Amino acid sequence: MAKESLTINEVRDMMLAVADRIIEAEPILTDADRALGDGDHGIGMERGMTAVKEALAGQEFPSVGKVFIAVGTAMMSSMGGASGALFGTLFRAGGKAIGDTTTLTGHEVAVIFKEGTEGVMTRGEAKPGDKTMVDALFPAAEKAAEVAGLPVSEALSAVADAAAAGRDASEGMIATKGRAKTLGENSLGKPDAGAVSVAIIAAAMRDFAGV
Ligand code: ADP
Ligand code: MG
Repeated sequence: MAKESLTINEVRDMMLAVADRIIEAEPILTDADRALGDGDHGIGMERGMTAVKEALAGQEFPSVGKVFIAVGTAMMSSMGGASGALFGTLFRAGGKAIGDTTTLTGHEVAVIFKEGTEGVMTRGEAKPGDKTMVDALFPAAEKAAEVAGLPVSEALSAVADAAAAGRDASEGMIATKGRAKTLGENSLGKPDAGAVSVAIIAAAMRDFAGV
């Protein structure tokens, strides 16, 4: 059964499930960043998502936006590195943009991905095609806008597919931002580590909402 919307507590529990999924994926993220960067992305994300769990578990929030802001703040203050600031911005900008709504619908999903992705692009100065997390976020945001009228479970499913396709497409890109840019054409053939993280986050959101 499609789920029309999620409550504040369901959104909190969804982000706790996201945190667990990223923590489990630490070896995958480490390998991805070892191939193209300095190998610390898995540990950084694990640290960030451990802080997210501490910030969310057992807490009550006044709005859905505040849950996402808490996620971003926990990541930003615990991770360091390029991706700490960028993932922090993603969730904080997305959370702020949806205001004080108490449900997550396809509409809020679209706003979070649009404003969050714009925040990341402004902060990191990366555009689609630079082989960064933006290559998973940007198509996810475009898809989210298209499916904003659908039940939240279906919207998140479509967004997760778009993020995964973006991650896959990053394999065929030459890095021009972040540490991987020094590799030039040698960055071809592997996905960007941050894009792998985005795809895992979107998949965990989809799985929680369940179609
Ligand atoms: P660091 O690069 O400091 O080691 P991480 O390894 O945690 O940080 O994260 C690397 C990821 O951060 C990259 O795979 C990429 O997705 C993302 N990234 C790095 N620089 C940028 C940027 N300027 N814009 C967008 N994303 C970026
Ligand atoms: Mg790194």
